[in-house]
Amino acid sequence: MDQQKKFETLAIHSGYDSLKHQGSLVPPLFQTSTFTFPTAEEGERRFAGESEGYIYTRLGNPTVKVLEEKMAVLEQGEAALAFGSGMAAVSATLFYLTKTGDHILCSEGIYGCTFGLLQLMEEKHNIEHNLISFTDEETVRRHIKDNTTCIYIESPINPTMKLVDLEMVVKVAKEKNIPVVVDNTFCSPYLQQPVALGCDYVIHSATKYIGGHGDVIAGIVVGKKEPLQEMAMTTLKDIGGVMSPFDAWLLVRGLKTLSVRVDRHVENAQKLYPLLKAHPKVKKVFYPGDEDFEQYELAKRQMKKPGGMISFEIEGTKEEAQAFLNRCRLIKIAVSLGDAETLIQHPATMTHAVVPPEERAKMGISDTLLRLSVGLESWEDIWEDLKSALDK
Ligand SMILES: *Cc1c(COP(=O)(O)O)cnc(C)c1O
Repeated sequence: MDQQKKFETLAIHSGYDSLKHQGSLVPPLFQTSTFTFPTAEEGERRFAGESEGYIYTRLGNPTVKVLEEKMAVLEQGEAALAFGSGMAAVSATLFYLTKTGDHILCSEGIYGCTFGLLQLMEEKHNIEHNLISFTDEETVRRHIKDNTTCIYIESPINPTMKLVDLEMVVKVAKEKNIPVVVDNTFCSPYLQQPVALGCDYVIHSATKYIGGHGDVIAGIVVGKKEPLQEMAMTTLKDIGGVMSPFDAWLLVRGLKTLSVRVDRHVENAQKLYPLLKAHPKVKKVFYPGDEDFEQYELAKRQMKKPGGMISFEIEGTKEEAQAFLNRCRLIKIAVSLGDAETLIQHPATMTHAVVPPEERAKMGISDTLLRLSVGLESWEDIWEDLKSALDK
């Protein structure tokens, strides 16, 4: 597929040629665990890597391959690997990049389960980590140790929406040849392409915007060809967190409408954040598209559009925050994001409950902070629900 084509076109057409599949417009679903060899000798050649062709779905599957090729193109990487969940992608990448005694430098305020994984890696495998605020070059430089083998970033950071200047971090990382990994879940490849800014690995929880319909758990890693081939034969194949062909098939479908959906998520979010800001019960709104947002300029530079996620703090206590959630009707109380349905959650007791209270406070997650994943409904209806729950 012509790489010069625009994102919207590539999301639909790249990675698949219908004429090689009897004209089937949609990629066939190869729902099979294994593949038969025509002869014993061909089986030997496939295992020896001397012949193309599939062996067993944990080692590769044609439907999954379509998704991987599309994602590599959309993130401007050389290759992609699909995983059974975002966390399978995160853990396979971190275990690939580290060994006992190494150090991971992380952005402060990461996804709750990634935080849990880092604890586990430290306790069980003596792989240490630091969570820091990547404010400027000097700060990043100062925190890099001799044993740092990976810089791990989320931007925007969940759920505070703080951004990390990826180009700035890449500049420092390159001085020491340290790979930079970015969890790009909140943006999707449509809004931010870290590889184009020099980052080495991009991770997605494809469960979110890429799937977009709340019916799949899946993960993706995009990066350079060689390391990804190595990962495919080690931390993917042998740890075994592979994606099912049906999930890949759903995600290929999801990708076709990604840009249209995200445009609408953003449009709705841009209508809602000023209304939230103006409401007397709302203390503070965190949205990268807000001119008052601390990193508004960086958001404009780094992201194509400011995204569909809004966090906001309401006046009162934890119990009052919970009572507010209980008054929402159209908006569903649920973790996850990027779905057609607007979802709201309470990070302090839900996604970030595993993070100790002191750490949470340091990350800027108060007991009245709420995270809204703006859906595809009419923004007027979403606002009516928010307003009536706030007004009570
Ligand atoms: C959801 C999420 C993950 C984990 O993905 P799963 O598909 O749930 O395993 C990782 N990072 C971010 C930012 C997420 O939102």
